[in-house]
Amino acid sequence: MGSEAVYLFYTELNRESPRDLAHSPTSGVHVAVTVLASLFLLLILFVAVVGFKAVIKQGKSPEEMNLEKCSLCGQKMNKASLVERQVGDYKLLYFCATCINNLHNELITKN
Ligand SMILES: [Zn+2]
Repeated sequence: MGSEAVYLFYTELNRESPRDLAHSPTSGVHVAVTVLASLFLLLILFVAVVGFKAVIKQGKSPEEMNLEKCSLCGQKMNKASLVERQVGDYKLLYFCATCINNLHNELITKN
């Protein structure tokens, strides 16, 4: 009789132990941990996919690499038809034929 009570007490203790709760598939703690882990994994996957797409987007096509905006009118043109000028150490300016003509005309009419 005495040993039976101890056994019952022991199993009761075991059932309530955190280790048991975490390993029981029906336990709420276990489900919460699983859901959190899955969400965390999904978040990591999401960030990885978004980062990968951003890297792919940065890689321009060869045709796009040759295109440059005119610094005055903003028109996108092939680099070959633009005049390139460097301002300072880093800023590159591009001028299209139309804008250069306009600048030239402006200078002529001024003088
Ligand atoms: Zn222009």
